[in-house]
Amino acid sequence: MHLNIPIGSDIFDANRRHANKNRKLFESHGITAINIMGAIGSGKTTLIELAIERMGERCRIGVIAGDVVADIDASRFKKYGVPTIALNTGKECHLDAHLVDHAINQLPLADLDLVFIENVGNLICPTDFELGEHNRAVIVSVSEGDDIVSKHPMIFLGSDLVIVNKVDIAEFVGADPDKMVDDARMINPGITALKTSAKAGDGTNAWIDWIEACMQDKP
Ligand code: MG
Repeated sequence: MHLNIPIGSDIFDANRRHANKNRKLFESHGITAINIMGAIGSGKTTLIELAIERMGERCRIGVIAGDVVADIDASRFKKYGVPTIALNTGKECHLDAHLVDHAINQLPLADLDLVFIENVGNLICPTDFELGEHNRAVIVSVSEGDDIVSKHPMIFLGSDLVIVNKVDIAEFVGADPDKMVDDARMINPGITALKTSAKAGDGTNAWIDWIEACMQDKP
């Protein structure tokens, strides 16, 4: 007897339905949601902190902070006084729409304009799981090596923005940030590409401009 059980596609279909529900909930409150992906140490948390510092006065920001364990990143966001929900995935290497739904329901949606969802740190698992976001940003750092983009094409194919971060240390780690940008554009010609040093501040105005454009473009 042959049983054809398409487990994988069922999981993805169920997740997509749940993600659409999350997106509608965000939109019913006029919220733009941005999914921030990238490896551990690439600068996801620091770039979100930077956005809170620069935009927090004129824009009400909330954060959903995903991590395998602990709430180290969540406590970094809470220092700014922004509503923050920590999500621990345990053994899972990505957030999914169901988990994010739990976090959304703990956020004061009526008091927010923008929600960052910091995904679990890696460049593979988050790719297939929509969360209900409007835009996807993927952060890579030069310290991961300048072939990191070409080794993980799928996440760049599905993203709206790539940030090549830590460009201030590129020459010390022997990486070429321009190659990383070129690789991302080769994979996804529609992607916006920025080079930043989140610590030194280089290129970070363009990061803020991109977020503001996302907020204006949202339906
Ligand atoms: Mg982080």
